[in-house]
Amino acid sequence: MPAPKSVPDHARLDRVVADARRHADERGRTYREQALAIYPWICGRCARTFDRTNLQQLTVHHRDHNHDNNPPDGSNWELLCLYCHDNEHQRQQEQAAGTGSTGGPARDAPATHKPFADLASLLKRKT
Ligand SMILES: [Zn+2]
Ligand SMILES: [Zn+2]
Repeated sequence: MPAPKSVPDHARLDRVVADARRHADERGRTYREQALAIYPWICGRCARTFDRTNLQQLTVHHRDHNHDNNPPDGSNWELLCLYCHDNEHQRQQEQAAGTGSTGGPARDAPATHKPFADLASLLKRKT
């Protein structure tokens, strides 16, 4: 009786391994991947847009700062670029430490340009 033992066993093993790997992938799906699947790839602060080439700079912020709170509807997630995410946490830390405005040099958006600074110097030069 020809009874090849090893061949079918191997095939089955392969399938089992593949299955296990797939399940591990599903379980390992991070909240980041889920958030990226739900939300458009846009920073919630500066509205910078992202695509696959720079997606690693888009991060998931937890609104309540609890990384274990990951509701599947994404209500605790906010997509922020690295810079805005940093800002967000710095602000939180400052608030928590109670050192809100003690002379931090760059504590708010550096993008706010003073439109009249140039004008003033121009006027000064003219006179
Ligand atoms: Zn941003
Ligand atoms: Zn965060």
